[in-house]
Amino acid sequence: MTGGRGVLVIGGAGGIGRGVVARFLADGDRVVVIDRAPLPGDLGGAVAGEIVCDVADADAFCVAIGEAEALLGRLDAVVNCAGILRITPVLETATEEWDLVQAVNARAAFLAIREAGRRMIAAGERTGEPGGSIVTIASMAAKHGAAEEAAYAASKAAVVATTRVAALEWGRAGIRVNAVCPGYIPTEMGADTRTPEDVALWESQTSLGRLGTPEDVAGVIAFLCSPDAGYMTGQALNVTGGTVMH
Ligand code: NDP
Repeated sequence: MTGGRGVLVIGGAGGIGRGVVARFLADGDRVVVIDRAPLPGDLGGAVAGEIVCDVADADAFCVAIGEAEALLGRLDAVVNCAGILRITPVLETATEEWDLVQAVNARAAFLAIREAGRRMIAAGERTGEPGGSIVTIASMAAKHGAAEEAAYAASKAAVVATTRVAALEWGRAGIRVNAVCPGYIPTEMGADTRTPEDVALWESQTSLGRLGTPEDVAGVIAFLCSPDAGYMTGQALNVTGGTVMH
């Protein structure tokens, strides 16, 4: 049973995150979004709150998560969808680019987990009703890399590792922490370099013969946040149409 929960979606204004927001709203949950930009009109009126924040600004991001909890009353589920991709060969990857990708993808995921967990543990102690679900978005690149994506793949491997550690630490507090590892989902991310030939190749690498959609990923995240996934924590679930099977 879902619905009526307080859900924070970080990076909810674009791509996969927007699909996640739409899914939780459709399930009857109250949703607050943190993103760099406001939500597009159709969803903007439906959420319980929007907080504009750059997740690479660690202090501002932690404050924003506190504001989200205040708006919702309680963080029942927190989903971190914010992320950036840089496609650069190793030999051309500047130190600054590496640091930026780690700050947005790896450090912000860590901060989201830390601040969400801290608040979920406190809420459980305060109310006597422990629990909460945290979902991070990693990538299939976390598991098998991808050429010209050293900074990105490393940041996503860090997301998976941090997810597992938090799951180990907070299981007894009833807090489940899981990651999803999407395959190719045609969103704004990578749109500037994506060619029809790329799409055809990526489709051929899936078992299902098609690229994924934000709704495909949102459905798995909704499941992970539901009681049906009550015995799952520390997992990194592939949502790749069969491109990756481990
Ligand atoms: P999008 O670029 O479409 O959406 C990402 C969202 O995060 C945007 O709203 C973006 O805002 C926001 N965001 C980015 N940087 C920041 C920041 N510094 N502070 C606050 N918000 C920020 O990407 P996707 O929806 O495709 O990706 C979502 C997640 O899924 C990412 O973590 C990505 O790495 C992961 N993923 C995506 C795959 C894909 O094929 N699309 C495959 C595997 C994983 P803005 O638009 O202003 O940049």
